[in-house]
Amino acid sequence: MAPPQRRNITTPARVRFAPSPTGLLHVGGARTALFNWLVARNTGGTFVLRLEDTDRERSTSESEQQIYRAMEWLGLDWDEGPYRQSERGEVYDEAVAALRAAGAVYASWETEEEMDAQRAAARADKRAPVVRGRRDWSDEDVARFEAEGRRPVWRFAVDPEGRTVIDDYVRGEVTFEHSAIEDFVVARSDLTPTYNLAAAVDDHAMGITHALRGEDHLSNTPKQMMVIRALGGTPPEYAHIPLILGPDKKRLSKRHGAASVEELRDAGYVRDAVVNALALLGWSYDDKTTRFTVEELIEKFSVGRISRSPAVFDLKKLDHINGRVLRTLNDQQFADALVEWLRRDGFFTRHGDEAEDLVRRSVPAVKRKMTRLNEYETLAGWLFTDLQMDPEAWQGIEADVKLSLQCVGTGLGRLEALPEWTQPEIKHALQDQLHILGSNAREFLEPLRISLTGSTISTGIYESLDLMGREESLRRLRLALSRLAELWDP
Ligand code: GLU
Repeated sequence: MAPPQRRNITTPARVRFAPSPTGLLHVGGARTALFNWLVARNTGGTFVLRLEDTDRERSTSESEQQIYRAMEWLGLDWDEGPYRQSERGEVYDEAVAALRAAGAVYASWETEEEMDAQRAAARADKRAPVVRGRRDWSDEDVARFEAEGRRPVWRFAVDPEGRTVIDDYVRGEVTFEHSAIEDFVVARSDLTPTYNLAAAVDDHAMGITHALRGEDHLSNTPKQMMVIRALGGTPPEYAHIPLILGPDKKRLSKRHGAASVEELRDAGYVRDAVVNALALLGWSYDDKTTRFTVEELIEKFSVGRISRSPAVFDLKKLDHINGRVLRTLNDQQFADALVEWLRRDGFFTRHGDEAEDLVRRSVPAVKRKMTRLNEYETLAGWLFTDLQMDPEAWQGIEADVKLSLQCVGTGLGRLEALPEWTQPEIKHALQDQLHILGSNAREFLEPLRISLTGSTISTGIYESLDLMGREESLRRLRLALSRLAELWDP
């Protein structure tokens, strides 16, 4: 069932994608990026890219580059950025200074151990384990701490009596009682900002109007709203999008197979299919439509139709979408996508650049048989190498030597006699022979196909003969015939 139509974003939105560059861009992050991009494109707004790299230990430039590549491949172009939080230290320093001046944050001199003890005591008391620092240290206390070399962290002074209400596009009204929110740290003792400070300050400073992000951030939202309000700003509106699960209904993880965008690309999925599948992770247009072009998504996407329940990412579904997308491509488009994929995979390093022509010519023969681009070599790789006979396939031929001899022998005879080596001629001759023998098509053609391609999984026989060319085709069939003849023992 499609979710009920709720509130939508109708004015040009300034949205952002704010990944932490600590690993690969996975399905979840890519979906968040896509939803934000769709909102920007669909409202005539702006898509900002911001790297949340304040965790210097875990952030790598490799991950950053990989995020750019994955987004480019997906076609998610950004209008502003990339901004890096690691380069915006001054902005956060100023924000902390402003918050201090406003009395919204305070120096908390307690050690981590003291705070942990507070939490444990609260738990033992069956109270929410929220900590609040003392704000009434005397000047002597502070002087002593400083003399001891202690440095304070800066905590936000949460009003325990207050509450924050989020009017979320997806989840509706969500209320957070401040009594359950601790005085969260905004700046560490070395004055580096925490995630909640940096994200809030940036959303405010960058004029973000709408923040679409994973549901796992919901509990951060009241904190970030408090920070923005304390800075005199208006928080963005929020849309918290549902979790993604694997087919086993467990939270999506590596266990479920290829889950980074580049892995999906390398596994032979095409951009339109991946975008289509990502869009359907928690969003739907109606009860039935499952195929959308990128243009249709831009036109039809709306936050009002994002579901509250978790979405399931299933590679089988992606296979299905990918197959459908591949079949909508014309031969030229298919060939372009295939050549690009093979090039990345090193195919032309292995087989030489001149192989491209044959790859392109083979497209009509493989197109309808392929679900993913990485299946090409299994189907048509035999065209580019010396004959490599699959022993099992050969056993199939050997199982009935007499029959195979007859098929390969008569088939070869007809092909040798062909005046012209074209697909219609080849097909006509072999079908005629089939008719004469009165055998079924599979029985007659399979030994020929195995003799030619070395496998039972390949392009169809007529196309295969045509693509391989007369000389090499006849050579392979003669070879099979003599192998069979040696085995023939009437
Ligand atoms: N850096 C956060 C993450 O990668 C983004 C949170 C947000 O979108 O506000 O989960």
